[in-house]
Amino acid sequence: MRQINISKSVPVVGEYDVVVCGGGPAGFVAAVAAAREGARVALVERFGFLGGMATAGLVAPLSVFTYNKQLVIGGIPWEFIGRLVEMGGGHVEHPLGNVAFDPELYKLCMQRMAEEAGITLYMNSYLSGCTLCEGAIQEVVIENKNGSEALSARMFIDATGDADLAAMAGVEMQPQEGAPLQPLSTYFILGGVDTSSPLVHEAMHHNKQGENCHCLPIREALLARAEELGLPEFGGPWFCTTLHEGCVAVNMTRTAGNACDNRDYTRAESRLREDVFRMAAILRDNFEEFRGCYVAAVAPQAGIRETRRIKGVHTITADEYVSAYRYEDSISRGAHPIDIHATQGSSQVTIFLDSPAYVPYRSLIAPSHPNLLVAGRSLSADRKAFASLRVQASCMGTGQAAGVAAAQCAARGCTVQEADIEQLRSRLTAIGAQI
Ligand SMILES: Cc1cc2nc3c(=O)[nH]c(=O)nc-3n(C[C@H](O)[C@H](O)[C@H](O)COP(=O)(O)OP(=O)(O)OC[C@H]3O[C@@H](n4cnc5c(N)ncnc54)[C@H](O)[C@@H]3O)c2cc1C
Repeated sequence: MRQINISKSVPVVGEYDVVVCGGGPAGFVAAVAAAREGARVALVERFGFLGGMATAGLVAPLSVFTYNKQLVIGGIPWEFIGRLVEMGGGHVEHPLGNVAFDPELYKLCMQRMAEEAGITLYMNSYLSGCTLCEGAIQEVVIENKNGSEALSARMFIDATGDADLAAMAGVEMQPQEGAPLQPLSTYFILGGVDTSSPLVHEAMHHNKQGENCHCLPIREALLARAEELGLPEFGGPWFCTTLHEGCVAVNMTRTAGNACDNRDYTRAESRLREDVFRMAAILRDNFEEFRGCYVAAVAPQAGIRETRRIKGVHTITADEYVSAYRYEDSISRGAHPIDIHATQGSSQVTIFLDSPAYVPYRSLIAPSHPNLLVAGRSLSADRKAFASLRVQASCMGTGQAAGVAAAQCAARGCTVQEADIEQLRSRLTAIGAQI
């Protein structure tokens, strides 16, 4: 392929203690946590709103904050849920602590909390590169309508979900273990649904511990008539209330694809948009409860379950995870079942946990990079442990730990490998984390 060389000078428009890349569940919490510890924090986000998969992907509900009625993800994440509920934008389902939400109020709630924490927001800004000196990131480069800009910081947190910053900085990634990635799925919101019908009402509240929340009667009918209906590949279906009468978020489309390959993601996203309308028509034509339904919204981006994960100082294994191994440097927890969706077909492997698992600090850092932490779904875990930790409450929990750790390391002038674990854990406990 023909190559071109570009060299340009880029203005450094801000200097911070901590720069967080990605404003999804993990990045938002990481930024708030670091700012509340006294760090000067910038948050870079490619969209014009926060929330990541919850808002750009319409992924609902937010799972799992409690287990057997006990809080497993506390502190800033749980405070956010409280604020959202107060605004009329969230509904906590017990006993699992799954949270159904209104995506627009979710965006507003995150924006307010970020502003209150004094975070400098670089929205509509795409992370495109970084500069390095002896393994340490010096600046990140972002692209927006101002052109190319750089932000410097002592500490960086990669919360892009896809480990974009870590990949740009040359961090080693997890091998793919020969298994294909979990499929992509575009969520959509249907209006005009009979949400008071027993079938939809039961399916749209994710409140059962130890059970898959898919809508079994519709699933069985679809599987039985898939060919006759011309049904595209599907999963679930899962329905979730958006807190508005007649509206449900639908998780049903799926296709194989790699979201870190631009052309493949484009192909998959186009196909999934077609499937959204096909599936809405199938629901409308075949199920009484959906007779008057219409597509009220398609998620701005196709939902991404799995891409890159770093090879950290420690990689969480499935054995450690399911046995709830308690690490000395535990900084967060996870209570969602291990949930692996087949790349092709509508099947899924679900392993329910006997007790909530633990997450070590060492899974958020690479051995090679002194001022980089990751938060959210690109942490260091094997495929099975990841398949539980990828949910939003768990991502928020690792965001909280990464934010506090980054602020502490910046203040002490130490590397992330030299973090004072006792100080970190004691601060996390003080702010409400369950570790
Ligand atoms: C179909 C599907 C169903 C799911 N079901 C559930 C469920 O029921 N419950 C649940 O809790 N979780 C569920 N999940 C998982 C969950 O949504 C994600 O794993 C979680 O949101 C990951 O959080 P994160 O903060 O790590 O990343 P993300 O939510 O992906 O956030 C990353 C943020 O970084 C930004 N970003 C990315 N790259 C760049 C860049 N280069 N420059 C600037 N910004 C960038 C993105 O715009 C985004 O805002 C589901 C996911 C999918 C796809």
